[in-house]
Amino acid sequence: MNLNTITEVKRPQSADQITQWRPGYAWLAGGTWLFSEPQFGTDTLIDLQGLRWPALTPSASGLEIAATCHIAELFAFSAPPEWRAAPLIRDCCNAFLASFKIWNASTVGGNICMSLPAGPMISLTAALEGVYTLWPRDGAPREVAAVDFVTGDNANILAPGELLRSILLPASALSKRFAFRHASMTKLGRSAALIVGTQGEGDLLLTITAATPRPIQFYFPEMPPATALRRAIDARIPADGYFNDVHGSAAYKRHLTLYFAEQIRAELAAA
Ligand SMILES: Cc1cc2nc3c(=O)[nH]c(=O)nc-3n(C[C@H](O)[C@H](O)[C@H](O)COP(=O)(O)OP(=O)(O)OC[C@H]3O[C@@H](n4cnc5c(N)ncnc54)[C@H](O)[C@@H]3O)c2cc1C
Repeated sequence: MNLNTITEVKRPQSADQITQWRPGYAWLAGGTWLFSEPQFGTDTLIDLQGLRWPALTPSASGLEIAATCHIAELFAFSAPPEWRAAPLIRDCCNAFLASFKIWNASTVGGNICMSLPAGPMISLTAALEGVYTLWPRDGAPREVAAVDFVTGDNANILAPGELLRSILLPASALSKRFAFRHASMTKLGRSAALIVGTQGEGDLLLTITAATPRPIQFYFPEMPPATALRRAIDARIPADGYFNDVHGSAAYKRHLTLYFAEQIRAELAAA
């Protein structure tokens, strides 16, 4: 849609060129959300494409993903065989309510910064113990664990003007075994639950997303029995702590969460 409140589009070559920040400014990544509805409070878009950050940088320490990496680029990434959890990347790209047009425009950073419960890049990076690098407008870069970035539905820890620069998925997490479960009320619809388990040496890291407003993670140093897992989830997420929307009631999402969590536990325990 045309955004008729926009009076200026800035195209910086470097983020340092944006020294001042004021209400009415917005970073523009793929624009798939920004151009999908009126933006009454926005008069200036600051296009991130001119920053030309390399989309994907694999190294011995892991995979660095630029915030401006498109979903299609991430999907096409070919990982080394020792990164056993790498297929999770494609599983999460496929958990988007999105056509190929969205895949080619939408960015990993845009998805994370939208901070919707059904943001599959949030699920991916939280489950793989990602670390985000944030660039404040007036301070030193800071790092935050992916699981701590989103604080609620469409809410996160970004300060005004703060930029998500990149995401590091550590090689140690990419090397783990994983199990993935996902449900949506409609085929290719918005996620009702996206749950991932990863396992190093006999442990379990369980990441619950989409069913809850923000990611919730559980770590068990040893694989728990079914009852202990269920008890831990119920103790941390009350019945009204699930995300209630048109894509599923809180009760439905609780059911999916407990059902999938047990499937993941059993699958990784058998492995
Ligand atoms: C038909 C349709 C289906 C959709 N389905 C889904 C879905 O299933 N799940 C889902 O989560 N979303 C969905 N969305 C919402 C949105 O399209 C996605 O979240 C998308 O990934 C946003 O990425 P983008 O690059 O297009 O972001 P943009 O639209 O460019 O930006 C989104 C927001 O993030 C900010 N932003 C972008 N990049 C940065 C950065 N690096 N640092 C700081 N702030 C930044 C922008 O200022 C803006 O506020 C859907 C939208 C449409 C229209």
